[in-house]
Amino acid sequence: MSDDLDLQTIRDRLLESLTVSGCNAVGVCTQDGLEGGPPSTDLTRQLEGAQSAIVVSYPLDEHKVELYMGKIDHEPYQLEYIKVNNIVQGLMGEATNQLRKFGYEAEAVYAGNTPGDGTKADVMPTNDRQRKAAELNPAKASDVMIGSIPLISQRMLAAASGVGFFGMSGNILTETHGAAIVLGACVTTAELPATPVLSQDVNYCDECNWCGQVCPTSFMSETDFTTVKMGEHDHHKYTTREHHLRCASHMTGMAGLSKNGKFSSWGPGRKHLPEDDDQVLPALMQLVGDTAKRPVVPGGFYDPQNGNKMNIMCSACNLVCHPEKKVRAKRLKMWTQGGVTIQREDGRVEAMPLDEARAYLDAMPIERRVLYEDVEIDPA
Ligand code: SF4
Ligand code: SF4
Repeated sequence: MSDDLDLQTIRDRLLESLTVSGCNAVGVCTQDGLEGGPPSTDLTRQLEGAQSAIVVSYPLDEHKVELYMGKIDHEPYQLEYIKVNNIVQGLMGEATNQLRKFGYEAEAVYAGNTPGDGTKADVMPTNDRQRKAAELNPAKASDVMIGSIPLISQRMLAAASGVGFFGMSGNILTETHGAAIVLGACVTTAELPATPVLSQDVNYCDECNWCGQVCPTSFMSETDFTTVKMGEHDHHKYTTREHHLRCASHMTGMAGLSKNGKFSSWGPGRKHLPEDDDQVLPALMQLVGDTAKRPVVPGGFYDPQNGNKMNIMCSACNLVCHPEKKVRAKRLKMWTQGGVTIQREDGRVEAMPLDEARAYLDAMPIERRVLYEDVEIDPA
């Protein structure tokens, strides 16, 4: 590659290469275009002197998504999720290599709270921009306590770069594949020109609230909304996120049954977290203890950031959301009418109708059943 290309050409070549590699949306955002967002939009939190970020969305296989949403088969979707995350990290690694060849610093962004080397980064405001950002977008005390604040928010970067737009779920929706995607980003000291924010006209979110209806817990507020202004743009509002451990309990499979008891995520647990946020952490610790005594779910992957083995057991709020309303309606029905999950003694989880699941649990020895649901034990 010639090393005297201008920044616009470098950007366009990188974005073209990411598109032909399978990304369904690509873009670039800059420090200016992110100004006004939460502290996690200051790119210098990850890389000193960072000026811009390349952002991509990579679609998940729709057939595997539907096997998962219908509770027909868990594994194909989970393998797809692992594969696509690795593809995205590989693409971002290659983008950073290319930027370095042009003489710029660059680093891939990881979706969690730590950089790729596992170092715990300080996610609290450390400069004036971040302090101002924190005043405009205050963090919840529970997020600070449990460490769910990202170093860099890929969602915010995706909205600011025109890769997608916020739906009511708070997830990023893309024009072609909705929210059934994996985001990726890399930050760089190159002053790459920004791509435009998407127009409100292409935001298909019609506030159907099916993302809320598939959520087995109360993570998305029914009354409070969050709006973010970045650069010159007021982005679409989304439901304020409640205590993150409510979602985490289902994502990790510790909990499963929905609050109305009619459907479940893939987790086989039936205990519910209390309504009072102050009681969530102690209740979750009990679920952690229960889960440690249950058989190990086969498959899964090692979280690269904390080394723990984990399985993906929910994500329904993003997987339900498709640009075509009839597809969205089908996935809503599949998830909420696909039965509830139980766990076999060899660790496998499978879905079955409510009454069969009830009979399965009733037939369990009590010492096993208490790992899944609250049971009143007769002292006599
Ligand atoms: S499921 Fe409906 S309300 Fe939720 S983000 Fe998608 S289109 Fe919007
Ligand atoms: S991942 Fe599941 S539990 Fe978490 S917000 Fe989405 S639907 Fe709710």
